[in-house]
Amino acid sequence: MKSIHKAVEVSAQTTRNVLKRNAMRFAAVLLAALAIFVAVPNAALAAPPQHHDQVPGFYRLKVGDLEVTALFDGPAVADLHWLNGTKATIDGVVEALREDPHMLEAADTGFLVNTGKQLILVDAGAGTWYGGAALGHLAGNFRSAGYTPEEVDLVLVTHLHSDHIGGLTTQDGKRVFPNADVYVAKAESDFWLSPEIAAKAPKDAQPFFQSAQAIAAPYIKAGKWRTFSGSETIVDGMQLVPLHGHTPGHTGYEFSSKGHKILFWGDTIHAQRVQLQHPELTVVFDIDPTAAAATRNQLLPRLAREGVVIAGPHMSFPGLGRLHKEGSGYSWAPVVFTDRWDER
Ligand SMILES: [Zn+2]
Repeated sequence: MKSIHKAVEVSAQTTRNVLKRNAMRFAAVLLAALAIFVAVPNAALAAPPQHHDQVPGFYRLKVGDLEVTALFDGPAVADLHWLNGTKATIDGVVEALREDPHMLEAADTGFLVNTGKQLILVDAGAGTWYGGAALGHLAGNFRSAGYTPEEVDLVLVTHLHSDHIGGLTTQDGKRVFPNADVYVAKAESDFWLSPEIAAKAPKDAQPFFQSAQAIAAPYIKAGKWRTFSGSETIVDGMQLVPLHGHTPGHTGYEFSSKGHKILFWGDTIHAQRVQLQHPELTVVFDIDPTAAAATRNQLLPRLAREGVVIAGPHMSFPGLGRLHKEGSGYSWAPVVFTDRWDER
């Protein structure tokens, strides 16, 4: 009994000592904290510097067995004066722009398709051929995505405007993708690379001809400029989709894998928030505006019906989404970000 009492007394004493030690330790910590607070009054409130960089401009999407990587070339803004349509429609756009000055914002994007057998680039951004520093970032984003230009087997170009092919060639005439064959519709190649047609073209269209010729030249010289004129097979599981109008040989590339489809549609749409609601609106760069509008009228219902994934260079980055019928036009459902590779 006595020993129990003793033990309880010892234990109580120990507890008191521990509490006392803890109290002293707490007081010391508190004093130290106060000392720091007094010595450097704003240490805890110092503003962290802003970070002006961005995540690398690439985004991957699985389509069946295909790995598709969108590569950001840079931001772009469509100009109201580029749009052609009825006065009522244009007036409506002007009015909407007053409410929403960001309505014509766009992008320039190229796309990589890794089929498991071949690495294919579809459109190549502007490189240094479009002026300004806003575009031309595709090459850097290409490397960030884990690939090297030497690995590209094929380049499929939708048309020969410099914002889609500038990334192929440096200003001093070197091929950026030295091992790639470049494919383009014959009608497109014949048009932009013709000195006779260029000579007759209006002055403000001349730069398009000059850049197309300079960019194509090293690939032609190396025997790597290839044209197609029908529905020949270039890649297994890929179909050519003629989309004439914007340019004479404007062509889409539609890949299928395991029942999933993705269409790389080039310049079918320039200003998504205007032209999807008004597919009849054309742009000043359309060589044949009537054909461009007719192509949209034919194409868009099928894409909406079939739920085809669209890869659009001028849609908001990553330029990947699907169409849904909405009123007399369409709405754009962008792909939703996910890091789950198996859940697309
Ligand atoms: Zn374009």
